[in-house]
Amino acid sequence: MSTIDDLLAHNESFAGELPDEHLDVSPARRLAIVTCMDSRLDVFAALGLDRGEAHVLRNAGGVVTEDVIRSLAVSQRRLGTREVMLIHHTDCGMQKLSDDGFRTELQEATGVAPSFAIESFTDVDADVRQSILRVRQSPFLPHRDQVRGFVYDVDSHRLREVEA
Ligand SMILES: [Zn+2]
Repeated sequence: MSTIDDLLAHNESFAGELPDEHLDVSPARRLAIVTCMDSRLDVFAALGLDRGEAHVLRNAGGVVTEDVIRSLAVSQRRLGTREVMLIHHTDCGMQKLSDDGFRTELQEATGVAPSFAIESFTDVDADVRQSILRVRQSPFLPHRDQVRGFVYDVDSHRLREVEA
């Protein structure tokens, strides 16, 4: 039995225990969160969020890429979000590789140089500040005044704010 089969079995009981409900497509707290795909960061539990309350955009590193800006543009312009919370974290996998090294690895393994930026980093605070700037400087986003960045400690589970 694969892990996905396990998850499907869980979903059967999860759905069976919950009453049917229809929440609005617009997040109730008018918040979008951009964070890393790291498996130790349970965003909803760590922040006390419930279903229907926030958009959560995740990728390797919580990087503000063109695709994240695309999602934030939809989130703000069509689905009513106003605040953006950026959460990076300690012990990130993106600190364990280099842009050049990983790019070379991909090219050597496949013969194709990736068209995307790798976006590794060493200084997590500097990376959070970079992400804040990318959101604040995007002309596609109408709401850029309430953008805050944080580092989540994967051991203590605490958030620390990074001043932009
Ligand atoms: Zn990470």
